Amino acid sequence: MRYVILAVVAAALGAGVWWYLRGPDLPPPPVLPAEVTYICRESGELLRLPRQPTPAVNPRTGRATLVQALWCAACQRWYPEPPPQARERMPAAPLCPRHGTALQETAEP
Ligand SMILES: [Zn+2]
Repeated sequence: MRYVILAVVAAALGAGVWWYLRGPDLPPPPVLPAEVTYICRESGELLRLPRQPTPAVNPRTGRATLVQALWCAACQRWYPEPPPQARERMPAAPLCPRHGTALQETAEP
């Protein structure tokens, strides 16, 4: 277990150093869109709503069942974001469970 933690820390440090060194060459980060896609954990319905903490309230049901939806370009489908406990174990972006590729906030390339 210790080795796993060390490996994660080392990977995070390496990514941080790489990011720091790469930083000056990169264009400014894109402005995050004000609206993001949410998926309802009850119905699976997709909604475009202003960015907000999750679980967000589904305006149709009044219940906090919305989590952010993340797009896999290979699957051509949306996946619900992983729960916060799972996110803590992922130093990088959430990955597609089928392809292992990074999921995106938008369906655009
Ligand atoms: Zn996929």
